[in-house]
Amino acid sequence: MLFAHDTVMALTAAAALVNTASAGSLDSVADLDAFVTEWGWTGSREHSRGELAAVRALRPKLRAIWESDDEQVVRIVNGLLLDAHALPQLVRHGDWDWHLHATDPSAPLADRMAVEAAMGVVDLVRAGELDRLRICAADDCDDVLVDLSKNRSRRYCDRGCGNRTNVAAYRARLSGTS
Ligand SMILES: [Zn+2]
Ligand SMILES: [Zn+2]
Repeated sequence: MLFAHDTVMALTAAAALVNTASAGSLDSVADLDAFVTEWGWTGSREHSRGELAAVRALRPKLRAIWESDDEQVVRIVNGLLLDAHALPQLVRHGDWDWHLHATDPSAPLADRMAVEAAMGVVDLVRAGELDRLRICAADDCDDVLVDLSKNRSRRYCDRGCGNRTNVAAYRARLSGTS
């Protein structure tokens, strides 16, 4: 296991949240409900426009983590943890064995999302593995991804860019244009 399960979940969910911006898929409270269900978020919810706005506003802050150098990432992560008054505690609930929560379940959803993402990045920073945060290598896509592969080989996001790029290269070879 490269990283703890909660680190993997936190980073994968953070990338998915960032990528809802380019997908235009977090436009309503119903969209947010679906996202929260899909990614298994527990804890308090408001189901309000304000909650939606706070989560949407978190996306560029998280995206900046993918686009910054190590020093900047540390500043961003520390800022997210401070702003949400993060206080790490080991907890166990449902099917989940011991893992870290750094916010109370009653804290606002956007704060909990921010802190979970930050804690995931904390693990990458400590392990010297920040280069696992990547931008999709496809020319026409700038979605973010987390490369959790053993051989650090992941270059494309989840939205089929790898296939699309391979197919395009194959067609180009067939037609003799490359
Ligand atoms: Zn938990
Ligand atoms: Zn892509």
